[in-house]
Amino acid sequence: MNQAIETDSAVYKALLESTKAIPWKIDWKTMTFAYIGPQIESLLGWAQSSWVSAEDWAARMHPEDREQVVAFCVSQSQNGVDHEADYRALTAAGDYVWIRDVVHVVRDDKGEVDSLIGFMFDISERKQTEQQLLSLQQQLEELSYKDGLTGVANRRMFDSVLASEWANAQRTRQPLSLILLDIDHFKQYNDHYGHIQGDDCLKSVGQALSGAASRPRDFVGRFGGEEFVLVLPETDAAAARHIAERCRQLVRQRRIPHEKSTVAPLLTISLGVGTTVPEAQDRAVDFLNAVDKLLYRAKQRGRDRLEMAPVQGQSLPEQVPGSG
Ligand code: GH3
Ligand code: MG
Ligand code: MG
Repeated sequence: MNQAIETDSAVYKALLESTKAIPWKIDWKTMTFAYIGPQIESLLGWAQSSWVSAEDWAARMHPEDREQVVAFCVSQSQNGVDHEADYRALTAAGDYVWIRDVVHVVRDDKGEVDSLIGFMFDISERKQTEQQLLSLQQQLEELSYKDGLTGVANRRMFDSVLASEWANAQRTRQPLSLILLDIDHFKQYNDHYGHIQGDDCLKSVGQALSGAASRPRDFVGRFGGEEFVLVLPETDAAAARHIAERCRQLVRQRRIPHEKSTVAPLLTISLGVGTTVPEAQDRAVDFLNAVDKLLYRAKQRGRDRLEMAPVQGQSLPEQVPGSG
């Protein structure tokens, strides 16, 4: 019988020490290791004999994980609740390995906590996969609202921003401004300099426009092709005109040569600028169309300029001629 038990425990020991999971036991009263599997040395590099107290365990934990994990494990153990915790364990070489510790609380006859037994699992690979997945997700999120070429927001994002700012303006009765702009003679630019340089030019314009408006809710996006759009919440006509003029200047300051332009030897843009306080029944799409008409008018009137809707009380549309 004794022989059988001894054989059994030898089998158990062999089993425990040959698994990838690392078994351990901590005596609750003394907070010392009663046992830890020899595999710990091949995983973390610390000798089996160096695991003496629970403090050795806590000390070999990433500082960012330590406080939270130790507090959690102690409180779960005190309450006699089995638990598990993920943390980064320090290796003797100074690196960190992600560990999942699965802990079972053992009670004595009186129901008091006697010891903790558990297994440590190396979950580095799983964590790495998780991290990769997370960063892929982030990339995907960015891709879904960013224009791939210019890095500004894309059309889809514009649609949703306009819809929400429109509803906002209807509720708050604050003026909402919209700037629609289009590069002048961009077809000739492409024909003359080639599409690759055309793409670079679009990137440069996107960057320039990103610096035109600075409030947190100001929005810059690529409307499509060589057209860009700005949504400016709580911005009246005078402020919108200011920002539109800054857009024109910022593109100018890029000094992108455009030999084939009939407007100027440098790349220029035309802009339509609209401001509205939408009524409950007004539709964003009608406002967008009205601003598009203003852009068209800027083209017809010579390009490199902005056009605004007539302001109440004025019979003539406002114009800002290009200043070269
Ligand atoms: P206008 O001054 O009236 O705006 O003349 P335009 O030549 O700029 O106008 P049009 O709309 O006829 O031409 C736009 C050109 O923009 C045509 C198209 O090849 C080019 N384009 C649109 N998207 C891209 C792009 O992603 N990359 C490049 N390189 N060109 C683009
Ligand atoms: Mg166009
Ligand atoms: Mg154009």
